[in-house]
Amino acid sequence: MTRIREADKSHRPGTRAIHAGRIDDLNAGAIMPPIYQTSTYRQEALGVNKGYEYGRTHNPTREAFERNVASLEGAEYGFAFASGLAAIDVLMKLLKAGDHVICGENVYGGTMRLMVRVYEQFGLTFSFVDMRDAEAVARALKPTTRMVYCETPTNPMMFLTDLKAVGDITQAHGLLFAVDNTFASPILQRPLDFGANLVMHSTTKYLNGHSDMVGGIVVTRRDDLAERLGFLQNASGAVPGPMDCWLALRGTKTLPLRMKQHEANGRQIAAWLTTQKAVKKIYYPGLATHPQHELAKRQMKGFGGMISFDVGDPERARKILGGTRIFALAESLGGVESLIGHPASQTHAAVPLAMRQAMGLTDSLVRLSCGVEEAEDLIEDLAQAMD
Ligand SMILES: *Cc1c(COP(=O)(O)O)cnc(C)c1O
Repeated sequence: MTRIREADKSHRPGTRAIHAGRIDDLNAGAIMPPIYQTSTYRQEALGVNKGYEYGRTHNPTREAFERNVASLEGAEYGFAFASGLAAIDVLMKLLKAGDHVICGENVYGGTMRLMVRVYEQFGLTFSFVDMRDAEAVARALKPTTRMVYCETPTNPMMFLTDLKAVGDITQAHGLLFAVDNTFASPILQRPLDFGANLVMHSTTKYLNGHSDMVGGIVVTRRDDLAERLGFLQNASGAVPGPMDCWLALRGTKTLPLRMKQHEANGRQIAAWLTTQKAVKKIYYPGLATHPQHELAKRQMKGFGGMISFDVGDPERARKILGGTRIFALAESLGGVESLIGHPASQTHAAVPLAMRQAMGLTDSLVRLSCGVEEAEDLIEDLAQAMD
């Protein structure tokens, strides 16, 4: 179980991103954390060691990464996993058969698949509710409810959950409140400050930021949850390799810088989309026309680089998706390079059609992950694809 050190709590986010979790390399004084590419550690005598016995349980490179992200989220403890879904899998393992979970109805398709197709088999039950309305959480409460789970902003509809309002409900009822903070990153939003007890990320996305590894992380402030998460991380064993931790840790150093550029591009492209006749609807919390823009300003420090827009006709969407040259047609998000995607057939194909339609996730919806290239080039690219 990795706990941050006092030193990891000092300074502001931009400085923490670079220094928190640092390994002081006594061998050579390396500035970069060494990649401890080892499965086991030499023991001085039976039961005498440096705190490291086996690679699934402990790895110094992994710990440096866990401390770094925990520090950025304002948490005390961090637990890295082999993927975002492996992290969510462990969140589910905090529960037991008979427990009920209230989950936002618009979550990553794989999250819903894990809940419904894996964990319902083990006796967990789920209610999927529209968490734009905090009261919907109160209405869905049952005597067996143990956890509330949400994403905000959501993928791909950019719905927001009022973290403070839901945090108050979960606190009043003694429930766990878990938030997938992948879209915002800790630079734009820190759910623990609003009453969440658990925050997870697909580190594959903004935290690593370079589309060259797959990973996940869970952070918390609570000692009791950390105890159990540490146990589960080791007992279930879906840990990331040291090289992937090193890559992600290299990524978080520039997270504050990258988020500034993602955000600047997101705002500029969203504003441009509002001027386009072909665009029927735009979903971006940074636009004053977004129904939850005021909430976004209250709980986020910025609006990020994710934009969805509806062109009203699936054939038109298909042409745009096939016509961009800088925006690559690909799943995933949060990398330095811009991506364009089609949620209905890619990331959210596993979500039942009726549910997709009810929330506006149509076949003509296009999702952009604005990278950190020059906004003018990105706009020209979209313009020629829409032409
Ligand atoms: C990608 C993603 C996940 C799943 O993470 P993986 O690293 O692909 O396992 C979970 N939540 C959100 C919001 C995501 O974008």
